[in-house]
Amino acid sequence: MGSVMGKLKVVVDWDTCIADGVCYALCPQVFEAGPDGKSQIVEEYRGDKPHEGFVPEDLADCVDQAKTACPTGAISVERVE
Ligand code: SF4
Repeated sequence: MGSVMGKLKVVVDWDTCIADGVCYALCPQVFEAGPDGKSQIVEEYRGDKPHEGFVPEDLADCVDQAKTACPTGAISVERVE
């Protein structure tokens, strides 16, 4: 059996993201500037859509910092298997 660590599903809501860059300044391991400066998930962890991804749990602190600091609450995080 492999690692028991889960992953985090991370989604940026492009309807509420105001492209201020706070999340990708704080957590560039996961977030980067996408179209018009809105936040997207870096290619390594990206899912089917650029603003959705699956991130290893060891980056949870980084993701949580970005989520907490986002002024519009555009980042959602959910633990998945
Ligand atoms: S911190 Fe929030 S509003 Fe700012 S770029 Fe990231 S997702 Fe968008």
